[in-house]
Amino acid sequence: MGSTFRDVPIAAKLEAAIGLPAFLDRDTNVAALGEMAFGAARDCPNFLFITVSTGIGATIVMDGRIVHGPDGTAGELGHTPISLEGPLCGCGASGCLEAHASGTALARFAIEAAASGRSPFLVGRAVGRPGGHLDARDVAAGEEAGDASCHELMEHARHAFALACVGFVNALNPDRIVVGGSVAEAQGDRLLGPARELVARTAFHTPRTRVRIVPAELGGDVGLAGAHPLVTARLADPAWRRGRPTPASAAS
Ligand SMILES: [Zn+2]
Repeated sequence: MGSTFRDVPIAAKLEAAIGLPAFLDRDTNVAALGEMAFGAARDCPNFLFITVSTGIGATIVMDGRIVHGPDGTAGELGHTPISLEGPLCGCGASGCLEAHASGTALARFAIEAAASGRSPFLVGRAVGRPGGHLDARDVAAGEEAGDASCHELMEHARHAFALACVGFVNALNPDRIVVGGSVAEAQGDRLLGPARELVARTAFHTPRTRVRIVPAELGGDVGLAGAHPLVTARLADPAWRRGRPTPASAAS
């Protein structure tokens, strides 16, 4: 499917088919608009939205606008390299934050820890599962149960996230870092606490004094919450209307 469904202008086709303006953006960007309108970034024009789940997605909002970059690819903070050597990331690079701290990374580390016998808890969990499947929840459960390897894996992920946050604060001077996604929701302050601590201790003094690292507020439906602000913002933005039908002509 990937090879044939490429560079398809979905929004333009949808717009032509229904006769109403249609806009498309990356899921994380739309979620960030939801948090800005209704959630943890209300009245906050400068923030980073980061989702820690199977992958690590992110959006940069500066002066109330999503930073897209000339090709629309800006904001992929999950693919910030934080180590010189590995592990290999799904994007093809190595050492990305996502390869250290995402749910997928934790699952891969878990399978390695079970295969090597380092984690008795994970060995036990994998028994009877198809293909010895393990995921991030198993690692978190192992930590809760006192398994030393699971604790080490979770600490590694937390430290990787914290280290990346120091870089984001130094590079971007956000008011807030809003953190959502299934891993972040499950971990809560266990993930955000070490990030706050490392930023407070090691980021540049001025931006670290300003920034607050807070949980997202809108949960799994945040993308839906962002659809309304996406449409209203772009309808009013000449940059997005250029070369496309106006709402009036599209409706006629
Ligand atoms: Zn990557």
